[in-house]
Amino acid sequence: MYFGTNGVRGLFSELNPSLALKVAQAVGMYFKKGKIIVARDCRLTGDVLRSAVVSGLASVGCDVVELGITSAPTAEYMIKKLDADGCIIITASHNPPEWNALKVVDGKGIAVSKERGEEIEKLMDSIGLAEWDRVGSITFYDRAVPDHIQAIKEHVDTEKIRKRKPKLVLDCGNGTASVIAPRLFKELGADIITLNSHLDGRFPGRPSEPSEKNVQELIAAVESGNADAGIAWDADGDRVIFVDEKGNYVIGDRVYALCVLWKLSGKKGDAVTTVATSRAVEDVAERFSCRVRYTAIGAPYLCEEIVSRPAVIGGEEVGGVIWPELSLAKDGMLTAAKLAEALCEKKLSSWLEEIPAYHNVKLKIEAQGEKKKQIVQKALDYAKENNRDYVDVDGVRINLEDSWVIIRPSGTEDYVRLFAEAKTKEKAERLAEEYRALVT
Ligand code: MG
Repeated sequence: MYFGTNGVRGLFSELNPSLALKVAQAVGMYFKKGKIIVARDCRLTGDVLRSAVVSGLASVGCDVVELGITSAPTAEYMIKKLDADGCIIITASHNPPEWNALKVVDGKGIAVSKERGEEIEKLMDSIGLAEWDRVGSITFYDRAVPDHIQAIKEHVDTEKIRKRKPKLVLDCGNGTASVIAPRLFKELGADIITLNSHLDGRFPGRPSEPSEKNVQELIAAVESGNADAGIAWDADGDRVIFVDEKGNYVIGDRVYALCVLWKLSGKKGDAVTTVATSRAVEDVAERFSCRVRYTAIGAPYLCEEIVSRPAVIGGEEVGGVIWPELSLAKDGMLTAAKLAEALCEKKLSSWLEEIPAYHNVKLKIEAQGEKKKQIVQKALDYAKENNRDYVDVDGVRINLEDSWVIIRPSGTEDYVRLFAEAKTKEKAERLAEEYRALVT
């Protein structure tokens, strides 16, 4: 089993050139040849894996269009623009620099899920090389970044941003945001200060995950620079978090709740999110009489849900927001540009006052194999017997009046996760303990 929720991920000893070549050949066969985009982040193993991926695709007859080092949302935006049949992005997202991964996206822009990955894996046993005169071409397209920037500019009020000139600190974490974010915000007319904004596959500035602990330098820079906001991305630039003008870190699901607020103010419709996302998103949607639809955790499931039934926005709890008007990528660049636009109206801390605050508690219940299933089943039985409002697409999420609990088996480790969210910390703790007792 190579494919996980976000493609094939591993250390270089596992995801090595020979595996990358084989996976790419199988992906090429899965997409039935055609035109496939290849992009990568700046990890040190990226170029070696890129050459294997490109070779694998062309060897089964795909025409490869290389974009070089770009953010994941840039590469995913280019699928439609270049009329490609699929895309492989070589990036391990927010993972440490020694990791890498092959993220596969289809011609509609939908990230390939674990289930579809299994179909690709089956093809790895029967690779059909192209005839010598039918191997694919390999070309380079060097305008992906300006194309993506242009598209983003068409989806925000650039005039307003140029007039207000918000002061922003950009923390690119030495990842792919470095090749687009400073240029994007300069073109938008914002006043910018950059941190960790040169590419370095060792991520020397900070760990790639934009958690509160990892962006302390950004927080300090926002405070000392009297900036309107701080913005930080992970290595492939799909996830983004904000820091308000007072130096407060804005966690991923509050970033998403803000985006839902901005989106629904202009265009009503359903919002899609994963079962692990804060109730704040539903509270915002309710204000506009709009609905929230829940999916299993993982970007591919969000994409699939948005394609299956119309939705105006999608997003996950770690700060990945999908703007379907542009692409099905979690677009950390457009999300950040939307923040710049919103800051023309009022301060980020004032915007945050519109998002209800919640507290959460996360517990782990140790359990293996069958026991994991039993725990989740107990939660489901309880929800049914007591007529609770629940969602069971990924574990069981039970929605209570102003709180919720999710009981969900870990896919890779020996425990079941229990999250509880409520208006106060005490209530969240009480809820978590109550449900732990119920299911164990
Ligand atoms: Mg990412």
